[in-house]
Amino acid sequence: MLRLAGAASTHVGQVRKTNQDRVLFSPVVSAVADGMGGHRGGEQAAAITIDTFGQVSERLSKAGLLDTVRAANKAVYDESERPELRGMGTTIVAAVFHPGERRLTMVNVGDSRGYRFRDGELRQVTVDHSLVEELVQQGRISEEDAQSHPQRNIVTRALGLGAEVEIDVFELDVVHGDRFLLCSDGLSNEASSEAITDCLAEAPDPEVAAQELIELAVVGGGRDNISVVVLDVIDDEDPAAVRDAAESVRRPNPRAVAAALETVDAPQVGDDSLDGPVSGGELPDDGGLETNGPPPVAEPRSFAAAPPSAVQRDRHRSRLVALAAVVTVLVAFLGINWFASSAYFASEDAGEVVIFKGRPGGILWIDPEVEERTGLTVEELTPAGVQKLEQELEWTSFDDASDFVDQLERIADIESES
Ligand code: MN
Repeated sequence: MLRLAGAASTHVGQVRKTNQDRVLFSPVVSAVADGMGGHRGGEQAAAITIDTFGQVSERLSKAGLLDTVRAANKAVYDESERPELRGMGTTIVAAVFHPGERRLTMVNVGDSRGYRFRDGELRQVTVDHSLVEELVQQGRISEEDAQSHPQRNIVTRALGLGAEVEIDVFELDVVHGDRFLLCSDGLSNEASSEAITDCLAEAPDPEVAAQELIELAVVGGGRDNISVVVLDVIDDEDPAAVRDAAESVRRPNPRAVAAALETVDAPQVGDDSLDGPVSGGELPDDGGLETNGPPPVAEPRSFAAAPPSAVQRDRHRSRLVALAAVVTVLVAFLGINWFASSAYFASEDAGEVVIFKGRPGGILWIDPEVEERTGLTVEELTPAGVQKLEQELEWTSFDDASDFVDQLERIADIESES
């Protein structure tokens, strides 16, 4: 008999102040919801949806699963009558496992995704309901363009926007060893499918896989909330399955050390699980200056710890290395300052549409600054306009951000005249 092992995990990311994603793993149903629509609305929409799924106590049929999605849609839609929650919505991707029929039913609305990992290959099951996916389908942009498209956050379907909702449903056969992934776009936008594949191939169990996927997205930038559910299909009676399980216990997991997010801040020298320009790490007491490759930076105290018996030549070299470290830190500092202030975005402030200079949520110590108060109130916008505003799209110039606000205003005017 097949059974399911699973784990769910969610993380606020590196930039956002609140987590508007919600996740669920239970023996009968699993789901990821990514809320949108203001600081309160997004959280509410996702929470209402996952609560609706959380109340499910028996394994749902396909029809039952669709009914649950519709119930969540109605609950969010009803709640969005409240003025402070107007325009809120959420994505959903959910899965129900039918062990007797060796089948898994998956549903989705919006751009949260479901994947199947089998025989080392990752296949996206769901199709995003998003503007960029439509452009890809129409052949107007490539898959690569989609990955970095400025409007990749705009979804074309979500729960809670109307009394009715269109739901995609997928029926999948399952075999022992299948691994399913449900995730929000905070993972799929930050991690390549190759990196996700590697992670799913190596992690010995769903808990480790979920933690490592989150870490992958955090290290990748963590610009959005990140949510994952990992589901493993296991056949306890299959002799091959029992052998696999024993092997997975014995197999050392090279990435396990990286599971703790703290290691992002304090990587160990030689820890190859973290690629990229990480800083930190202690120099060895001796010989450290003789190693090849770029000098470790941002740890000047390491140099002070050099033994006093070091010869003159080594002291001279250590000064050069220290200087290189200072220059590197300075360049990084200027780079971060430039990055943090080189964008514009429109957002709601005290009921008004305001253009900010900076990045949504700020970057490290640099908060966005008000560039222009437009005088346009959120009240005047259409629900679609509110949703677009909540995406906090980033623009490279003030003019672009301003054009965007003009567009919102024009749509609102057309609606009010008709
Ligand atoms: Mn998201």
